[in-house]
Amino acid sequence: MDTHVRLFYKYCQFLNKKRQIMSKILCVLYDDPVSGHPKTYARDDIPRLERYPDGQTLPTPKKIDFRPGELLGSVSGELGLRKFLESLGHQLVVTSDKDGPQSVFEKELPDAEIVISQPFWPAYLTAARIAQAPKLKLAITAGIGSDHVDLQAAMERKITVAEVTWCNSLSVSEHAVMMILALVRNYIPSYQWVVKGGWNIADCVERSYDLEGMNVGTVASGRIGLAVLKRLKPFDVKLHYTDRHRLPESVEKELGLTYHPDVESLVKVCDVISIHCPLHPETEHMFNDQLIGRMKRGSYIVNTARGKICDRDAIARALKSGQLAGYAGDVWFPQPPPKDHPWRTMPHHGMTPHTSGTSLSAQARYAAGVREILECWFEKRPIRSEYLIVDGGKLAGTGAHSYSAGNATGGSEEAAKFKTVK
Ligand code: NDP
Repeated sequence: MDTHVRLFYKYCQFLNKKRQIMSKILCVLYDDPVSGHPKTYARDDIPRLERYPDGQTLPTPKKIDFRPGELLGSVSGELGLRKFLESLGHQLVVTSDKDGPQSVFEKELPDAEIVISQPFWPAYLTAARIAQAPKLKLAITAGIGSDHVDLQAAMERKITVAEVTWCNSLSVSEHAVMMILALVRNYIPSYQWVVKGGWNIADCVERSYDLEGMNVGTVASGRIGLAVLKRLKPFDVKLHYTDRHRLPESVEKELGLTYHPDVESLVKVCDVISIHCPLHPETEHMFNDQLIGRMKRGSYIVNTARGKICDRDAIARALKSGQLAGYAGDVWFPQPPPKDHPWRTMPHHGMTPHTSGTSLSAQARYAAGVREILECWFEKRPIRSEYLIVDGGKLAGTGAHSYSAGNATGGSEEAAKFKTVK
């Protein structure tokens, strides 16, 4: 064989090998801003953090290909992954078109090995979709909360599910405190009077109270729930919580917390409830007519956990009847919610799109965390156990602590209505 033929033969072998190891990574991100991907930003940098409150280190990828503080969570941002993945010979498909059988997501899914999705704009991985994806081995949540994946089906198919634990927990805790204050003090309607050209003080304050002295409770005291309790302590409120596992006595003492063994006992005494448990079969529709009926008249609910923890129509009914004085949050079901979703128009609400965990600060952390998970995956190194939700056919790591087996994706196909219902 002459040298040219030998070289050509070797090149073909190289290409074949590359083709065999090449993975398809399907990444679903939210749309770019209507004015396009930003060219400039409001601030030049974001604070550099080293560790989370429990000592866990921030993500430790070998390298990142983005500047912290950039918009990474929308389609053009690509979570800063393209250069890295293509340098390894992998194929990266990024799309926001995620709902319905004609979506890019469903078309690309059958030969994808890895799916990356953000809870803000979730690519619902239902059992039916998992069945259409025989090569799927890893589902990464770029954020926290993997309820958009049918965890039962993932366990049965031995698909690894991982999320970037801690990445936006404190972002959400800040947001929850902001929403509690906004509801109790009637901030949003007051702001609207100014925009409308008014100076209607009485209209602004007829529903405005001080938070001081109120009983405020969290459903769950995990990373976010505890951070909310800590942030509320200086407001001189009476703090309560319920969780499956009780906090250490020293923490209860330091924050002056009252523990409730169940949510019924919690809601009876609280003026404000902030929800911070994951969505899983145990917590789905926890806040229904019956539970809301046990709350004090004129209570407030802030839900930055998952929309489906509350019964959609029960919330709207309670706001109309006055049983609830206000409801705020950033989480809906499904996402995006149809244009006729009652939470868009119910009275006394402070709803936003799902944004609390995707500040530019949080994006830098979860993009780095996704990169760390991918580096581990391709180098066959273990993924940190705190990032694992499902592994080896069972709940694992953080998943084994905070979730229960089963599926909470039922009804997610309704997200396709966002495009069709006017
Ligand atoms: P953690 O895992 O730290 O905390 C979750 C807590 O919920 C755990 O303490 C767990 O209890 C508790 N819990 C689970 N089931 C129940 C139940 N049935 N009743 C009472 N408590 C329960 O997670 P994070 O605090 O970081 O996040 C919580 C949730 O917040 C996420 O799962 C996600 O849904 C949501 N989230 C929302 C974001 C947003 O942008 N809006 C961003 C990030 C998260 P234990 O472990 O003691 O059994």
